[in-house]
Amino acid sequence: MRDYLIRATAMEGKVRAFAVRSTGIVDEISRRHQMTPTTTAALGRTISAGLMMGAMLKGEEKLTIMIKGGGPIGQIVVDANALGEVRGYVTDPLVDLPLNEVGKLDVAGAVGTDGFLNVVKDLGLKKPYSGSVPLISGELGEDFTYYFARSEQTPSAVGLGVLVGVDHAVSSAGGFIIQLLPGLKDDEITLIESLLSRIEPVTTLLEKGLGLEQILQRIVPNVEVLEEMDVHFRCNCSRERVEQTLISLGREELEQMAEEDGKAEIVCHFCNEQYLFEEEDLKNIINQL
Ligand code: ZN
Repeated sequence: MRDYLIRATAMEGKVRAFAVRSTGIVDEISRRHQMTPTTTAALGRTISAGLMMGAMLKGEEKLTIMIKGGGPIGQIVVDANALGEVRGYVTDPLVDLPLNEVGKLDVAGAVGTDGFLNVVKDLGLKKPYSGSVPLISGELGEDFTYYFARSEQTPSAVGLGVLVGVDHAVSSAGGFIIQLLPGLKDDEITLIESLLSRIEPVTTLLEKGLGLEQILQRIVPNVEVLEEMDVHFRCNCSRERVEQTLISLGREELEQMAEEDGKAEIVCHFCNEQYLFEEEDLKNIINQL
């Protein structure tokens, strides 16, 4: 099943809604970094949020989410854009914790709650937009809800989920964001709140085979899908970019590398791709300086 995202409105345009299925993407990233179920869940939830926040952007705009809560996972970093492309990593992909008291992957235990959720948006302006809120739960869904309320002044409900099988393969991942716009009446808000309080976890709905439109219909009445798009894992690293990084180190450091190590091995944080520069490659770069 393909990964995709929908952008929708509901209740005559007074609700904005997004939903995403990111199972394949989260599985690929988890494999690339040989992640544990706990770190896969933490990064996967952030990947889903990033994809939906990317869908709120236009054209060439892009964003970066950074979460640092003082827990053993370190930092979570996710890049996403308006084209439905996403990549991400955590500082320590190997953190493994016992299930929490409700028998779920202990995302809050890995992330921690002493820190911040930070979103930087590159909207093509001189200065990027940056918004930051303290972490309130570490489970991330609630933290994104708090981010939208505090930093973007948009009351929202965010549901994020990742289900990891016994073989460590991701069996489902996805999420939704519901945003309440001005003009909603009290009884309409009450209705949405009551539907939200009864909804099953998004991974359960995905496992049941529900499509994204059907999932949104369970949360808000009169869903109207405006756009459906494919979403992908994509890292824009390349040998040329890595070479630029090497060049920026300067002649002295490169000569030292060539002499002492006889090579340079550079690994992309985001996709774990390894770039190897042999002694001769390094000398070629030095000669061009
Ligand atoms: Zn990469």
